[in-house]
Amino acid sequence: MKPVVTITLENEMDLVLIQKRCGKLSELLYLTLSSKATFITAVSEVSREVIEETNRGILEFSLENINNKYALVATISYPKEFTSINSQEGVKYARKLITQVEIIQGETHSAIQLKLSLPRSSKLDEDRVRFINLYFVNEDPVNAYDEVKRKNYLQEEQLKEWRFLNEKKTEFLTIASHELKTPLTTIKAYAQLALTLDESKCGEEVRKYLKKVEMQTNKLYNLIQQLLDISKIEGGRMTLKHEKVELKEFIEDIVSVHRQVLTTHPIETKIAEHCYLYIDRLRIEQVISNIIMNAAKYSDSKSSIFLRAHFDEKEVCIEIQDEGIGMSELAQKNAFTKFYREDGVSEHYAGLGMGLYIASRIIEEHNGRIWIKSEQGRGSIFYFTLPLELQTKHEVV
Ligand code: ADP
Repeated sequence: MKPVVTITLENEMDLVLIQKRCGKLSELLYLTLSSKATFITAVSEVSREVIEETNRGILEFSLENINNKYALVATISYPKEFTSINSQEGVKYARKLITQVEIIQGETHSAIQLKLSLPRSSKLDEDRVRFINLYFVNEDPVNAYDEVKRKNYLQEEQLKEWRFLNEKKTEFLTIASHELKTPLTTIKAYAQLALTLDESKCGEEVRKYLKKVEMQTNKLYNLIQQLLDISKIEGGRMTLKHEKVELKEFIEDIVSVHRQVLTTHPIETKIAEHCYLYIDRLRIEQVISNIIMNAAKYSDSKSSIFLRAHFDEKEVCIEIQDEGIGMSELAQKNAFTKFYREDGVSEHYAGLGMGLYIASRIIEEHNGRIWIKSEQGRGSIFYFTLPLELQTKHEVV
């Protein structure tokens, strides 16, 4: 039974809406004045009790059709825990006015249903029911309160839909990334295996191609890993495993790996000594690697990358500087937004705009800050901090 009219019962002002809408519905059903008054009073009495006990009631008016015998039904539902409503004075009074009153117990909600059999003079048939439904779909707000209520309802519905779609998207991202990762791991493993074969089985030419396969699968693997990270972040599933690291050793280890891979860009470091941090080692390594790889990607080969780290009594500050294309002010503001790429960048540089978003979320999770200083054509400096109080907090633990 699809409701013709629905009114959420939140406060006393809803009683006015009941009077007006139930009044109009009675008119459209050609009810006599006394039937109209009786039904409105009974519905209002029960609704008042529901509003007094809980502000989460719902009133639905519907037209029941059993073998072409129509009835006007008002269903007032409320959360199940408010059992006392059934025995309130208002409900008792409604029972005296309307003979057909039923209590319905659902899993999470209970409902009081008031039914009024409609006489033939109501002239109801399917066309008339359709007309009445349409009347309430197109009805103007009854008063200013009704207008605000409708807007809120619409916003809530949109928000619900948005949340639903967002959950589905995250779910899709997770499943798709996992499905892509498995065959990719196999491709990479076979390429690596073939590279270990001797010259008679794997000649120079084939070796060159296999290295390309390996390099491209690595790139794809990183992208998939980023997609998985985004779905983790959005699903609130990114957990950190803090451990104690010595700053200089930690950063120099990361840089030495990059020096082997990034032969195009010299990396110079200046790292403060005797500084211990409690961080998720792999996640912070991911942040540093991402910024270093960007520094190389967005600058000419042979230009240098500088990595500095210093600390005071509160925090460690890590700076990564490049001599590359630089960023506009707009790009500096938006670079940490998901999927953001500066205008014109996509034509010359590959990427999806996920790395810095993930990096900023990792730094946020560590209670740090991340920002950029840059000028177009004059290189960029990426800064991020990690608070030292994490250290004391974890040392006590
Ligand atoms: P991607 O590099 O895949 O696009 P990121 O999230 O790492 O994604 O970066 C977002 C955007 O910020 C880039 O598209 C680019 O416009 C800009 N950017 C990032 N790092 C640099 C840099 N070192 N120099 C210039 N622009 C950069």
